[in-house]
Order: sequence, then C-alpha cells, then structure tokens
Amino acid sequence: MKTYGLLGYPLGHSFSKGFFTKKFKAEGLSDHEYINFAYSEITEAVKHLRGNPEILGFNITIPHKVNILPYLDSMDPLCSAIQSCNCVKVEKGRWKGFNTDVLGFEYSLNPLLKPAHKNALVFGTGGASKAIVFVLRKLGMEVLQVSRTPGKGVASYEALSADILKTHTVWVNTTPVGLAPDSESVLPLDFNQIGSAHLVYDLIYNPEKSKLLQKAAQMGATIKNGMEMLVIQAEESWKIWKS
Ligand code: NAP
Repeated sequence: MKTYGLLGYPLGHSFSKGFFTKKFKAEGLSDHEYINFAYSEITEAVKHLRGNPEILGFNITIPHKVNILPYLDSMDPLCSAIQSCNCVKVEKGRWKGFNTDVLGFEYSLNPLLKPAHKNALVFGTGGASKAIVFVLRKLGMEVLQVSRTPGKGVASYEALSADILKTHTVWVNTTPVGLAPDSESVLPLDFNQIGSAHLVYDLIYNPEKSKLLQKAAQMGATIKNGMEMLVIQAEESWKIWKS
C-alpha cells in the first residue's frame, strides 16, 4: 500500500482524509490510502512513522507544524524561511519538509484584496500564523501579530485600541477559537470598529461561518473562511508527493 496521511492532534473530523480518499478513487489509485496519524506527542509520532516503508508523505496540522522541524532531514527554501511545515515528502526514508499553506492562503486571499488593505492584524502565533504573516508581508502589508502572551512586536488583545482595529483593515484568525464543536467561542475583540473596508479571513472552515465571521459580516466586512485555502494546500501537497 502507498500510504499518505495527516499528522495532528486532536484530529476529529478530518477534511484531508475525505479529500484524498475521494481523489485516489477518482484517479483509480486503488493501492493508495490516506489515513489519520493522531499523536499528541511529536516524539511518539516520529517513533511510529519513521522507517515505515509504506508511508510516502504526510500533511501536518495543529499542533505539530513547528514541532516537526527538528525531525526533518531537509527543507525546501520556503519551509526553511517560514520555519513551519505542513507537508512532508518521504524519499528513501528521508523526510523533506514543505509549506503549502503559503500558496493556499495567497491564492485564496488575492482576489479579495483592495488598495486600502495596507495594515493587517494576525491573531495567534502558532504554526499556521507563520505562513500567513509571510504572505501578508510579501504583499507589502504592515503586520501586527496578536497573542495571549505578548512580546517584542507582538500585541496583547487588551492593547488593541479602537484606532488600531479601525486602521488595520485586514484581520486574519489563525487561532482555533470558534472551531467546532466550540463554535460559540470568539476572540475578545471590539467588533464595532469593523467597517465595510475590512476584510476578515478565518482559517477555520468548520463551521462554515464562524462567530468571528458572523460578527464581521454584520458590520459590513468582506469575509472569507479557510475552505479554499485548505483545498489549495491539499492539491499542492499532492503535486509534491507525485513529483
Ligand atoms: P497552533 O500551532 O497550535 O497555533 C494556534 C495558535 O492559536 C496558538 O499558537 C495560540 O497563539 C493561539 N491560540 C490557541 N488557543 C487559543 C485560545 N483559546 N485563545 C486565543 N488564542 C489561542 O495551530 P496551527 O497549526 O497554527 O492552526 C491554527 C488553526 O488554523 C487551526 O484551527 C487549524 O485548523 C487552522 N488552519 C487552517 C488551515 C486551512 O487551510 N484552512 C491551514 C492551517 C491551519 P498565542 O499563544 O500566541 O495566543
């Protein structure tokens, strides 16, 4: 069997498993499978995945996109620049890391951008946020990251003044806050500062319209969920594994 999969924890309902199972069937690849590797500890995951000759590649999700880095044998330049990995290709037992979240975010964001989108707020400082910040800066935006544990160049939620919230017209949620089954949760933000110039992007796709997106839409913002990004990053992963 040619085995691919998704490493993360908790995995719950996995979009990727369904996506690739359907894809392999449609392409007549009956000797291909895509399974979930649910490990909370990265050391446990590496112990079980390393050296299994059937595993040819895997995606990585919360909370291991950064944890995986010390276990890679090599990284492609983008993965190395961002220091976050969501796709591993296994060749002769060696693990090479890639980041396909970058393309997924960039391609899905691009059609929504307007000249007024010059300043961005990125909520969360985990693995996915690294790809998001990289893309926004590449597009020429000033980016302010927001965290529960602020530090140098990283603001706290409490420090976000009405002026900052108003003038930063791109908001991106890279935290799991609002993800099902906890879909009533929302980040502690003053939504009254949102206007029609705002673009609010939530990496969450389940529920389709998170509480954050519902509140932003009520204020007239353009909203986008993480589904298109997810599909693009999966397609890009497949291109890498096939190449
Ligand atoms: P991660 O590495 O665990 O990072 C998540 C970050 O969110 C944490 O570093 C933390 O930042 C913040 N956070 C966690 N719990 C929070 C809470 N209760 N309140 C406020 N902030 C909290 O996870 P990840 O891999 O970056 O993934 C994050 C989310 O993005 C997940 O929901 C994942 O499913 C989604 N995602 C979607 C796509 C897509 O294609 N649509 C791609 C990648 C990820 P601070 O400690 O700095 O506050």
